[in-house]
Amino acid sequence: MFEALSDRLESAWKTLRGQDKISESNIQDALREVRRALLEADVNLQVVKDFIEEVRESALGAEVITGVQPDQQFIKIVHDQLVEIMGATNEPLAESNKPPTVILMAGLQGTGKTTATAKLALHLRKQEQTSLLVATDIYRPAAIDQLVTLGEQIDVPVFQLGTDANPVEIARQGLAAAREQNVDTVIVDTAGRLQIDPEMMSELADIKKAIKPDETLLVVDAMTGQEAANLTQTFHDQIGITGAILTKMDGDTRGGAALSIRQISGKPIKFVGVGEKVEALQPFYPDRMASRILGMGDVLTLVEKAQEEFDIADAEKMQKKIMEAQFDFTDFLKQMRLLKNMGSLGGVMKLIPGMNKISNSQLQEGETKLKQTEAMINSMTKEERKNPQLLSNSPSRRRRIAKGSGYTQNDVGKLVTEFQRMRSMMQQMGQGQMPGMSPAGGG
Ligand code: GDP
Repeated sequence: MFEALSDRLESAWKTLRGQDKISESNIQDALREVRRALLEADVNLQVVKDFIEEVRESALGAEVITGVQPDQQFIKIVHDQLVEIMGATNEPLAESNKPPTVILMAGLQGTGKTTATAKLALHLRKQEQTSLLVATDIYRPAAIDQLVTLGEQIDVPVFQLGTDANPVEIARQGLAAAREQNVDTVIVDTAGRLQIDPEMMSELADIKKAIKPDETLLVVDAMTGQEAANLTQTFHDQIGITGAILTKMDGDTRGGAALSIRQISGKPIKFVGVGEKVEALQPFYPDRMASRILGMGDVLTLVEKAQEEFDIADAEKMQKKIMEAQFDFTDFLKQMRLLKNMGSLGGVMKLIPGMNKISNSQLQEGETKLKQTEAMINSMTKEERKNPQLLSNSPSRRRRIAKGSGYTQNDVGKLVTEFQRMRSMMQQMGQGQMPGMSPAGGG
């Protein structure tokens, strides 16, 4: 599931790779690719249009984050927009403060409504909640039998009055029985049709009026694709839903329905069905789903980290230290780790004005040097890190660090000299004594 969508989106990121920043002109191609990818995943056209518009606005309004490439930033924006249309977190089932909680199941025939009814009961039982299932599908005797069989399988009682009773009456009596038996939740399964038809809708509306459910869950088959949008719209307009269960997510679906439901109805997907077995039900987590669609977990973490780590207060503190020549090996290590956390040195260097022409071999050299430096600093004592002068004056200290880090005394000596030169240069820069240097962050 969603693999095709992930593959497709890959071309969208490609169009931005290697660019300096996101701009009106370079984002057109990327947006076109996202649009194509969503349409191929069977997402409803109107939903796609709204989605693209939102992404465009966020992308053009986004501030450049130091250490993050435009394509990475764009992935994050698309991700956030996916979360936006699917909902940020899982929304649990409503719970009535006057039990039983009443859940009404709605949906077309064959979508997995009856199966989902049993799945929900099992889910609740695992949370130590009791339920009663109510069978109102009098049109297909097999439907009642199916629910009874499922109920036996999970050891949950089923209320039924056969096929001669009126569905509204069955629902009403089922609810009364649930009250009498003091169960926590009553789940009412209803008749579906192959297509939306007025009779089914009016029967559903009548049942709803009779039992006043806390939840009206629309069961949608994930294979429905584009049609899911119309279906959701119709059910929501005519019955009023509070959420949805998306079934058959284990199958060969392109997944488009997952993006349409909340966008169309404003109501969340609460669960997904991932198999025929009664255990195969999972709470729906929009944020996880969005990451799966993009298949880009690392990039998302990277961008979030960069956003967090470059916090202004920290930067100001560092600047003050630089100006006062207090920048020590500990600060240096911290800055280096920051670079490392954010991925390659190359990625970060390219953001520094004038550095984008740096060659690959120079970059590699830089990375090796960083590793070497880190190893040496790690072998220093706290005192030495704070006061590099200690190292200038003591060959025995340098020898110990060389041994600890696996480099030569000469390497350690060089690091100390370079560090001190860098520190005094930084101090001069900080005090504005370097003619021709523009302040950082201006590009
Ligand atoms: P209803 O007519 O809406 O009540 O649908 P059923 O509950 O009878 O399900 C129709 C078919 O879909 C049955 O064969 C179920 O086993 C199957 N089914 C239901 N949910 C899922 C699911 O999440 N994954 C898969 N693969 N099959 C499912």
